[in-house]
Amino acid sequence: MAKTTRGKGLWKTPSRGRGICPICLSTRVKLLYSATNSEGKLLKVCKKCNSVDAATADKAVPTEHLGYRRKLRKELNQQKAAR
Ligand SMILES: [Zn+2]
Repeated sequence: MAKTTRGKGLWKTPSRGRGICPICLSTRVKLLYSATNSEGKLLKVCKKCNSVDAATADKAVPTEHLGYRRKLRKELNQQKAAR
């Protein structure tokens, strides 16, 4: 079976397969796993959040626009505090 979550193949994916997980808000994790929310929409999540239930997936927040370096971190911290 091909390694879909490891190695050179990831370099071609957007931001090398990494980002902020929309569910647990972990930064720079690999977003290569999927969870389905109650509307049947697929979300890219981290390994820890792989196939969480629909109720948890509904709480996902969009994270594509978020930065996590110090000066960009304010909004991420607010979202973390909100849960
Ligand atoms: Zn996660």
